[in-house]
Amino acid sequence: MAPPSIRLFNTMSMQKEPLEPLVPGEVKVYVCGPTVYSYIHIGNARTFTSFDVVVRYLRYRGFKVTYVRNYTDVDDKIIKAAHETGEAPVDLASRFVEAFREDARALHLREPDVSPRVSETIPEIVAIIQTLVDKGYAYEAKGDVYFAVDKDEDYAKLSKRNLDDLCQGERVQPGDLKRQPLDFALWKAAKPGEPSWDSPWGKGRPGWHIECSAMSEKFLGRTFDIHGGALDLIFPHHENEIAQSESATGQTMAKYWMHCGFLDLEGAKMSKSLGNVVRLRDALAKVDAEALRFFFLSTHYRHPLNFGEKALQDAEGRMEYFYETLRKVDERVAGKDFGKGPLHGEPARFLTEFESAMDDDFNTAGALGALSGLFGFMNELTDKPPVKDKPLVGRTLQALREQVRETSRVLGLFEDDPGAWLLRRRDRAVRERGIDVAEVERLLAERTAARAAKDFAKADQVRGALKTLGVDIMDTPAGTSWKVAAPAS
Ligand SMILES: [Zn+2]
Repeated sequence: MAPPSIRLFNTMSMQKEPLEPLVPGEVKVYVCGPTVYSYIHIGNARTFTSFDVVVRYLRYRGFKVTYVRNYTDVDDKIIKAAHETGEAPVDLASRFVEAFREDARALHLREPDVSPRVSETIPEIVAIIQTLVDKGYAYEAKGDVYFAVDKDEDYAKLSKRNLDDLCQGERVQPGDLKRQPLDFALWKAAKPGEPSWDSPWGKGRPGWHIECSAMSEKFLGRTFDIHGGALDLIFPHHENEIAQSESATGQTMAKYWMHCGFLDLEGAKMSKSLGNVVRLRDALAKVDAEALRFFFLSTHYRHPLNFGEKALQDAEGRMEYFYETLRKVDERVAGKDFGKGPLHGEPARFLTEFESAMDDDFNTAGALGALSGLFGFMNELTDKPPVKDKPLVGRTLQALREQVRETSRVLGLFEDDPGAWLLRRRDRAVRERGIDVAEVERLLAERTAARAAKDFAKADQVRGALKTLGVDIMDTPAGTSWKVAAPAS
């Protein structure tokens, strides 16, 4: 079988390129992880979901993937936050690593193969800094070590910035130890009360960028396939990673650079300084995790995405439609044997469409479009089958259901039992809308009795009363079920 023809947009070349891993059949991926000083916000969650799907899809396509995502557990922000809570920085960081892992599980993010921490990578970090000093790319100043940007001829090749422009208006401030305004810290001399480690330059701690150079080399080698992160990491973080790694090793750091677009909060770029940050766990208290994933994936990962109440409601409504369809299909065909034979209407075409969308720079929006077609077809086959042949319809539905399972492995959607998902959504809606479940059940019993007595006027009247409470009822072969009606818009 020919290897899959995946194309991905490479920020370095600014174009789509065919994915040709360094070792055929294996893809090594590094994604910059969270700085663990607080709970992550939904913008971070979008980035990590995008790369979760990239990794899932590469595995689905048969690649052996090694996925590394780090924890920045030594950082100015952590020290500042710990100062405010009175905890030791290391304790605060551990607490937020755990919080991140909980959030990641809730969002159905698969664990990376390796999740290294800065505090566990100090010897490797010191070794790279020493190499850079030895090679003349870095200099020591009173216990700090800086990278000398003017020694690196292709500095800013990822962001394509012009060094003269970057230097405009930048001055070395009095008291600064660096020689040039763009030089950046590889090592910071210890200040009282801060975590510190021994080094050839005295006690201190790493600067931010050097950790990713050290961790990626430690776990993926000097050159690896894909380096990912959010768009705002291109400059200076990724630029500085490249400067450090490539100056130290003389080799290309990563073959492909992938960047995920911003999440806008109702149009305003999400930034902590604006105070319009929504924490992932707050969002997950209001909206189902798969609905949030669906919302993220409904826009291509490189495009900006607008986060808002209405968009989330729409996503959850869409997931409800998907799960209702799955429940209906499962009731009809799960575990049944329809014998061997042909299928109706080429059901495999949806999976082909799904794969060609994903092959095209992980176009999840296109992939969800293929799924819409698939679910539409399942509904047609269950509600008004175009053919009378029941085994043919049954076999086709089973084949379509299997395709949903395949796509589920990639998207992290439909991982739940349909009945359980729908019940959870109903419970949440009941709480939010303050619906009296005992009253709903009393009315349902009244309606069942009326129908049994063939008093259809009364049954309709009760249905109306339920509607007033915000409840829709569905009569199915398996009995009557109910759900909370969509809010009037
Ligand atoms: Zn990084």
